[in-house]
Amino acid sequence: MPKRIEYLRKSRTDSQFESVEEVLERHEKMLQDFCIRAFGEPIHQQNIYREVVSGETISERPMMLKLLEDIEKGDIDAVVVVEPQRLSRGSFGDIDRIVNTFKYTNTKIITPTKTYDLNEKFDRKYFEQELLRGNDYLEYVKEILVRGRKRSVEDGLYIGSISPYGYDKMKLPKKGYTLTPNEDAENVKYIFDKFINGLGTTNLAKHLIEMGIKSQTGKQWTPAMVRNILTNKIYIGIVTYGRRETKKTMKNSEIIKTRPINDDYIETKGLHMPIIDKEVFDKAQELLKSSPSKNIRGDKTIKNPLAGLVKCKYCGNNMFRRPYDKRDMPTLICKTIGCKCVSSDLNLVENRVIELLKVELKDYKYYVSNYETEYKSNSKEFEKKVKKIDAELKSLKEDLQNALIKYNKNKISEAEYTFLRNYTLEEESRLNRLKMALNEKLKNEELEHKRKAIPILEKCIHEYYNLSVEDRHKLLTAIIDKIIYEKSKGGRWDEDARSSFVLELFLKI
Ligand SMILES: [Zn+2]
Repeated sequence: MPKRIEYLRKSRTDSQFESVEEVLERHEKMLQDFCIRAFGEPIHQQNIYREVVSGETISERPMMLKLLEDIEKGDIDAVVVVEPQRLSRGSFGDIDRIVNTFKYTNTKIITPTKTYDLNEKFDRKYFEQELLRGNDYLEYVKEILVRGRKRSVEDGLYIGSISPYGYDKMKLPKKGYTLTPNEDAENVKYIFDKFINGLGTTNLAKHLIEMGIKSQTGKQWTPAMVRNILTNKIYIGIVTYGRRETKKTMKNSEIIKTRPINDDYIETKGLHMPIIDKEVFDKAQELLKSSPSKNIRGDKTIKNPLAGLVKCKYCGNNMFRRPYDKRDMPTLICKTIGCKCVSSDLNLVENRVIELLKVELKDYKYYVSNYETEYKSNSKEFEKKVKKIDAELKSLKEDLQNALIKYNKNKISEAEYTFLRNYTLEEESRLNRLKMALNEKLKNEELEHKRKAIPILEKCIHEYYNLSVEDRHKLLTAIIDKIIYEKSKGGRWDEDARSSFVLELFLKI
């Protein structure tokens, strides 16, 4: 009669509210019911191995060690478990050991859903995959990744996915990335300089908007964005790993915020060039501490709905609102000395912008109604291509997983594994870019864009004159990239001459 044994273990995937005993009892009943159904009899009590110790690896689990020892004696036909993951959390040494022991002793693994014969190539692969799919395994992989990222930071590399404002990411010949200052580095210096010379974060944000300085994302500057720049140690050449979370505690019925350094926090000198001197940075930190982020509205509210948007056609500089004391009408002027640009009444320009938006809206509607049908016929072909790429991506992932297994079994060297890994990652990103491009085509970005833009434009045009100047400005900067202004002939009191300026509108949407 075939000898079967049963192995029971509570794993991390089981409810934390259930005790080990409860889990094992539940599993035992389930497996015994299964055995009665499948083999006509339950497993003998003395052949049930109950793991009550929770160990990460096999060597820390006494019952598992006993089980392997007993199997090696060669008289056990099968081990019954609720799922493969009960045998191992998926560490590679463990997988290797289990697979070999079961394989060479011809011991089967029986679960209620499948029986594994590890001498069968397919079963073995499936079994390994099952182990690697478990939650425990994911944590294991995460640990490996975290270790790698920590090491990179310790080496001074930059591991962020997005480069900070003022820097570009630069690939290093050997491994990883560092940063190199770009043209926005001057803006970073400017921000620090203005700040330590007394301009607060709120006014600084407004100042940047009025100067037409673009933020990292192109979004309008906010005090919080300015603050983030002012507190980022990357600018003094330091890279960090892990977050220093702000802990809130109550003290004397007041909430105290502290930022304790946790074990996972690493700070090292980066390989990149600092933009800001340490003294300047430290001064900024002190100023920030003495004036914690206030949300007080500065007296410099935005009075120009077109602030930062209109550029002079002749010199390329931003145009500014110029108030007059005697007259009500502020104008829009180019401040460049010697520029032949002639100013106009601000409200005339503003009205024209709205009229132009109406024209754009009409164009958009026309485009959408004309291209919708044509596009549909092309989309099938793109879909096919995307599917093909998905298949390639999937097999890449599998290759990498296999390489990792081999590496952990010492079948390939670290160099080989690293090479494979880098190759896979690069290939993956290439395919993903390709896929993105296809998806964009598939979406027909322009069509999609215009379709989405239509209700926004409609709303904007409809609501515009009901809004405050500040909200008008917000709205316009959200949809307009820039406006080129052109006017070279003056004539204040001639109605035609006053509105003889030309605008060119560039939309973001
Ligand atoms: Zn100009």
